Amino acid sequence: MQNIFGLTVEELTVLLRPWKVPAYRARQIAEWMYQRQADSFSVMTNLPAVLREQLAEKLLIQRASMLDRWDSADRRTTKFLLAFADGVAVETVLMRHSYGNSICVSTQAGCAMGCVFCASTVHGVVRNLTVGEMLAQTIFINDFLKSGQERVDTMVLMGSGEPLMNYENVLGFIRLVHEPYCLNLGYRNITLSTSGIVPQMYALAKENLPITLSVSLHAPNDEIRSQLMPVNKKYPIAAVVAAGRDYAEQTKRRVTYEYILIDGVNDSEEAARELSQLLRHQLASVNLIPINPVAERHLQRPSAEHVERFAAMLERCHITATVRREMGTDIQAACGQLRNQHLKP
Ligand code: SAH
Repeated sequence: MQNIFGLTVEELTVLLRPWKVPAYRARQIAEWMYQRQADSFSVMTNLPAVLREQLAEKLLIQRASMLDRWDSADRRTTKFLLAFADGVAVETVLMRHSYGNSICVSTQAGCAMGCVFCASTVHGVVRNLTVGEMLAQTIFINDFLKSGQERVDTMVLMGSGEPLMNYENVLGFIRLVHEPYCLNLGYRNITLSTSGIVPQMYALAKENLPITLSVSLHAPNDEIRSQLMPVNKKYPIAAVVAAGRDYAEQTKRRVTYEYILIDGVNDSEEAARELSQLLRHQLASVNLIPINPVAERHLQRPSAEHVERFAAMLERCHITATVRREMGTDIQAACGQLRNQHLKP
């Protein structure tokens, strides 16, 4: 049996050729799966009954199933633990902002990058997610929102995993979710976050998609960054920032640099000055994130005043900086934290 959830209309058309199915039927099937919550052919009532039976003998529609769900006290953040056909599970987060519903999607089960502050990588990487599995997370939440006449408005690829280490599937997913027969999500409403896989950053710039690139920088120099992020030994900070600059020049879109603030590690005035030097004269902004302490790690968050001082310092050096509004800290919404709880015996 072959799963068809995650295929484009073009791919479905090719697959359905042996059944002599006209092309417009492939589109109907896609709309049933992606817009009308179908999980079997039997509900696709505008298809001939005989065809429905024939397809059901050979093809499957595999979605995600919910293993668990947590709501933050203010109800604005909901985190889902979603499982796929082989039992592998990932986290997907829904954040209800004033400007709409944003979701945070996982691109790999676990993560291989080994960043010391991050919960997703504690148990290493299990495997890449397929196009269908990334789409299944998105459609699961979109269907969940539909009951309240709402939808997914914006999406960040910032869940577990390194999206640029799963490049082909992630690009296939971004293109599919944009299709009118799927969620019709605008490219400008999609953000991809990377730990700085330099060759793929250049490749992404060439794709000519107006998505936002977010780069996890977290340090102002190689010395500190290599301590926090092993990937910096392969792709040093200057190469990462050069690739970010290229992305901004090619796409004319502002690159966001994420910077987790960790008490006594990367939050000094000197670090703020060095960071502004690094990002000077670029179409870039800095998103400061007071660290969510992770049970498996021993890193602490600086005081709120200290965070404000760091932000003010950047602004004084003409770098646009925002402090990320925290959502869902009480439900451990930092990526990977809930999955780890589930993996614990
Ligand atoms: N691998 C990609 C995408 C997943 S991580 C990347 O590195 O960008 C995305 C973001 O999760 C990080 O940049 C950081 O903003 C956030 N993150 C991870 N661990 C965190 C923690 N303990 N506290 C706060 N944010 C964290």
